This record gives sequence, C-alpha cells and structure tokens, in this order.
Amino acid sequence: MMNSLGDLRRSHYSKEINPDMNDEEILVMGWTHEIRDLGGIIFVLLRDRDGLVQITAPSKKIETDLFEKLRKIKKESVIAVKGKVQGSPKAPGGVEVIPSQLYILNESKQPLPLDPTEKVRAEIDTRLDSRFLDLRKPSISAIFKIKSTMLHSVRVFLEKNGYLEINTPKLVASATEGGTELFPITYFEREAFLGQSPQLYKQIMMSSGFDRVYEIAPIFRAEEHDTLRHLNEVISIDIESSFMDQHDVMDVLEKLVIQTITDVTENCETELEVLGRDLQVPETPFEKIEYDDLIDMVNSKGVPIEHGEDLSRAAEKAMGEIMDGYYFITGWPTEIKPFYVLHEEETPEKSQAFDLMYKDLEISSGATRVHQHDLLVEKIKGKGLNPESFERYLAAFEYGMPPHAGWGLGAERFNMTLTGLNNIRETVLFPRDRRRLTP
Ligand code: ATP
Ligand code: MG
Repeated sequence: MMNSLGDLRRSHYSKEINPDMNDEEILVMGWTHEIRDLGGIIFVLLRDRDGLVQITAPSKKIETDLFEKLRKIKKESVIAVKGKVQGSPKAPGGVEVIPSQLYILNESKQPLPLDPTEKVRAEIDTRLDSRFLDLRKPSISAIFKIKSTMLHSVRVFLEKNGYLEINTPKLVASATEGGTELFPITYFEREAFLGQSPQLYKQIMMSSGFDRVYEIAPIFRAEEHDTLRHLNEVISIDIESSFMDQHDVMDVLEKLVIQTITDVTENCETELEVLGRDLQVPETPFEKIEYDDLIDMVNSKGVPIEHGEDLSRAAEKAMGEIMDGYYFITGWPTEIKPFYVLHEEETPEKSQAFDLMYKDLEISSGATRVHQHDLLVEKIKGKGLNPESFERYLAAFEYGMPPHAGWGLGAERFNMTLTGLNNIRETVLFPRDRRRLTP
C-alpha cells in the first residue's frame, strides 16, 4: 500500500476510454467494483465516478507477480491501474485494459457494511448509516448528479433574468411566521434560532433597491413530521422581485421549471436511464386551479374538507389522483396564509398567494407581499404576533418599500419531481429527520 499518491495521476476517466484508443497506454483510478477469478484469467471491474472499466488479466500475458497481486485485491479498495487499451465488444464501453502495473492506494476492510454493486438490497436506514458506500452506487449518485444539474440550471436561469444571488443569515433572533417551528440555539447569553426561511431578509432587500434577488440555502424546520416529504433541514430556492405581483412571479417559476427540466433531460440522459425515469418537458401554461374549485374537486373524490381549511394529506392525495403533472393552486384564503401575504383588493378574504404542485406534492409557495407599513403592522397583530419583535423588518417598509412578490421552492421536492423518487431522504446526501442527526 502507498502512503502518498506520488507521481501517479489519472490519464482518463472510465467514460473517456473508447475502442479508438486501441494500444494506447492509460492510467485509471478508482474502486474495485468486482473481481472475477477464472483461474487462467482475472477480470477486475474498476469503478470511478462516471462508470466502470474492465481490467482483463490473462495469466499468459501478465507477469506472475502482478497476476497474484490482482487476485488478492479486496473489494472496494482504491486502486490505480496502468495498462493498454484493447477493444472488447463484451466489456463495458466496448474496451478492456490489459494491465502492466497495479497500485493499491488503500485497501478496504472486509466484510462491507453495504454492497455498492447493488446485488443485495438494503433498507434506507442501513443505507443512510453507511451513506459513503451507498453513494458509490450508480443509481444513487445519479440523483445527486441530477440535483447538481438542477441547481446549476436554476442559477443560470435566474442570473439571465436579472436576479442577484444573495446570502442572508441563518442565525436569527425571532421567528418568520410565528414561534412554533423553530430550532432554538444558544447564542452567547441569549436564545436565538435557526432560520426557517429567508422571507423577511429577502423582503428587506427589496427596500434596499436590489430589485430582484435569489438565495439557495438551507432552511431549518423543527416540525415533528415523520413523512416521506418533510425533513428538518432542506435547501430552499427563494426569489423576491420588486414591481411584480403574484402573476409575474408565477410566470418566472413556470419558466424556471421548464428550463430546468429541459436542461436535465439534455444533460442527464445516463442518470435518468439508470433511475428508469422517462422525464418529459411538460406543456405550458401550467393549469391554475382556484382554491374554491379545488375544495369541490377534493370533496367530489369523497374526501371531506371545508372551504377555508388548509389542505390535509388526504386532500393532497385526492388531487394527486386528479392531476397528473405540475399545476398551480391560486386564490388561497387570507386567513390561513402568513401575515406578509397580500389579499385581493375587492375580496379581502382571498389572498394573492399560490402554491405550485406536482401531483400530490407541494413544491413551492409564493405570493404578492404586503408592502404598506401600516397594513403590515395590522396583519402582524392579527396573527397574534407582537410588531415590536419585527421592528428592524418593519423599518424597511417606512422609507420607500416597492410593491413586490416572490416564492420559495423546495430543492429536494423539486428534485423528487425530476427523479420520480417518493422519499425525500433519497434526495439529500445526509438527511436530517426526526430521528437522524448522523452521519
Ligand atoms: P408543507 O405544507 O408541505 O409542510 P409548507 O407550506 O409548510 O409545506 P412553505 O413554508 O410554503 O412549506 O415552504 C416553501 C417550500 O419549501 C415548500 O413548498 C417545500 O417545497 C419546501 N419545504 C418547506 N418545508 C419543508 C420540509 N420540512 N421538508 C421539505 N421541504 C420543505
Ligand atoms: Mg407552503
């Protein structure tokens, strides 16, 4: 075994090796995915981030020392192999490598707590406990390659549309929407909280004249959920736009979803295939369903729900049976929306808030915001909150706050709609839920 890499450097990733490179000398690095010892010939499958390459060692063509060393490699050890490329129709990528040197960079302990070759199925908890091994599976790393493409696509789209990326604090003094769902922490001699949303800060940025901002950052929610769609730490993609209303930002959201799906279908073909996902760019415009009509639709499915109530899980499920893709819910009751959401002028019981849904899953919430100081104070009081604890936020509304609107889109839930996965834990490297705080 080697203590340092020394002069060894990879010449090619597995996917870069092709039959045209016949006889070329290369150096590949990765993990021993599988070893097949047929006596006179040994096959080693070397796995790197992009796939597999077959190392073929016929005893007749290889020095005895090297042959014996190959035979003894332990599964999932980190190795480097120098050798010559040879076309081989049956091997992955149509090529194999005839080795001339083998370097064992780090040997793996045996037995493995988890099998990265996916031959043995494991429960999600076992998988998450040994997540580093789980992530070696092509079908698992595919999720995160798609997430990376998704986030890149979102950034490019928003930048092109004039949005500035901002960073707001995650250590906060008080709640965004009321006291219940926060993680308290000790902040020197005071109590503070982990931020549940950048809402108040992104609104303050409208008063600062930044006009269009976005943030992609963690939000923390101390909800005691144990569901397939909730975690206690997730990434929120947030935007806020001045001189826009709910309709304008719904349009931004719809375009962003379409652009991202287009980019993922074009750039993640292999990953979607590994996941068995047939992702199609949806038709636009997305359907818009009025809250009042939705309640009737849900009732007609035999699920009891009253006008004015928030959607229960049963109601979401009923909608999932009716709707097949992305759709908006508009015209939510003002009563069940946070204080910063503006109501309709003519019908104040109706708010200018919307949700973006995918089948039975809420992926985004947004609204036209209240931008008048006195109205905002009134609304804060109406929710039983104390305007004094929002003093610094409220000040931004007294010296020229433009009308504005925005939304928050859950990155993991959005990723679920791209990958077709139904457990949100699958879409986070190291998920945080009611029971899990490690790894
Ligand atoms: P839900 O009703 O499904 O619990 P919410 O209405 O409380 O969600 P919002 O406060 O509207 O969530 O947050 C905006 C978006 O952030 C949601 O639409 C969702 O995509 C995401 N999100 C919020 N909380 C969570 C969570 N605990 N786990 C996963 N995603 C979340
Ligand atoms: Mg919501």
